[in-house]
Amino acid sequence: MSQAEIGLIGLGVMGANLALNIAEKGNRIAVFNRTVETTRKFHADAGELKSRIVPCETIEEFVAAIRPPRPIIIMIKAGESVDQQMEALKPHLASGDIMIDAGNANFRDTMRRFDSLKDTGLTFIGMGVSGGEEGARHGPSIMVGGTEESYARVEEVLTSIAAKYDGEPCVAWLGENGAGHFVKTIHNGIEYADMQMIAEIYGILRDGLRMTAEEIGEVFGTWNRGRLNSYLIEITEKVLKATDPLTGKPMVDMILDKAGQKGTGKWSAIEAQTMGVPATGIEAAVAARSISSMKEERETAEKILGLPSVGEFQVADKAAFITDLENALLAAKIGAYAQGFAVMSAASKEFGWSLPMPTIARIWRAGCIIRSQFLDEITSAFTKAPDAANLIVTPAFAALVKETDGALRRIVSAAVLGGLPVPALASALGYFDSYRRGRGTANVIQAQRDFFGAHGFDRVDGADSHHGPWGSGLNG
Ligand code: NDP
Repeated sequence: MSQAEIGLIGLGVMGANLALNIAEKGNRIAVFNRTVETTRKFHADAGELKSRIVPCETIEEFVAAIRPPRPIIIMIKAGESVDQQMEALKPHLASGDIMIDAGNANFRDTMRRFDSLKDTGLTFIGMGVSGGEEGARHGPSIMVGGTEESYARVEEVLTSIAAKYDGEPCVAWLGENGAGHFVKTIHNGIEYADMQMIAEIYGILRDGLRMTAEEIGEVFGTWNRGRLNSYLIEITEKVLKATDPLTGKPMVDMILDKAGQKGTGKWSAIEAQTMGVPATGIEAAVAARSISSMKEERETAEKILGLPSVGEFQVADKAAFITDLENALLAAKIGAYAQGFAVMSAASKEFGWSLPMPTIARIWRAGCIIRSQFLDEITSAFTKAPDAANLIVTPAFAALVKETDGALRRIVSAAVLGGLPVPALASALGYFDSYRRGRGTANVIQAQRDFFGAHGFDRVDGADSHHGPWGSGLNG
């Protein structure tokens, strides 16, 4: 029997689906899982794909089943388990073999793992995979970081399994070492912001306009046929319209308002902060998840403080207000994506990756959780203006911001006056208003810093004196 083209370790939710996808596209694949029973069951349930799958119960058998140089996808729990799995594999591998971590790794771990294999003849790929279970099975978006030579060995298989947008595969080599996992992290950070903004809009419709889940679902359904067309808006309509089989009530009304998080949103915010790039939408979304998890504290605070006493939420023209909500969400989304791309641009310089922005937008158009028509417009904007300092100053997006930021301002104002929390929507407005203002207010901060710490400042007229006339105020 011919050898497998590729190997995969870890038959959990993602690994099993990815393996079936690989086999379905005509590739022969060897699989291994720590718990042997899982491998047996996976193979037994693989139906007509069984003949292309080589189930292996030992690492020796697994490695021997793959054609050298062996590409081996490791799709297991992120963190130390990946290091342990790599150590277990190493003694069985030969020069040229490639270990591919496809889990949600922190890109700094990926860089460390990549470096640890230098001088061993083995290579490492850090591969971000997005699209959840469905994407893994039928076509994910794949972000690859590693050497270009190792990518060449797996390009054909990855191209065959990736999602397609207008026939173009959503997979690309993005740069050396941690580039793929970094881009996947920022993808997730943007996803956090996008989801939070949708949740805030839902909150205005539920608590402001007092609409039912079903009615709000209708609104999202309409939006999904317009400029907000995207996977997240599509599934929001579906979840809002779903009924709880136990009570017959709307499913969302029966779900506890505590959101989980696994770390990629937080990592995005940390990296943005480390590089000094504002990513306020992502930060607001991470903080909102943290506040959501403080359910008991929030309930106690509501008893002590009460809800803001702002009276009835007043809307004169409901239809116009809902159109404003649609445009506000679009504007806020532009802010979050602009920030995400700005973080990647800074990281590209910091880590010497040359991240290709139009390509990143292109491979996010299908397969991944943030897939949308909007990403096609970002692809086009960055293709026309690859050196733009920020997405919002490209001609197409500058026009979109000018068209929609009025709606965002009206919606944020209405929410604030109505006592409804909109931290992510407000962060986008604050970002636009700060970024577009040539003369800001940091002159006062510089003066304060100079006053108490003699930090000095630059002058607008370029004159020589770099300290203020604060008298004896320089007191440490
Ligand atoms: P699951 O929990 O479904 O599966 C975990 C897998 O990891 C199992 O095969 C398990 O083996 C294996 N495993 C756990 N610990 C070890 C270890 N110490 N050594 C060897 N194998 C181990 O996870 P998922 O499939 O959901 O996730 C896998 C990776 O993909 C994670 O990094 C996750 O963050 C990432 N990811 C997940 C997405 C999702 O939507 N679920 C989306 C994109 C990425 P065993 O059967 O023996 O327990």
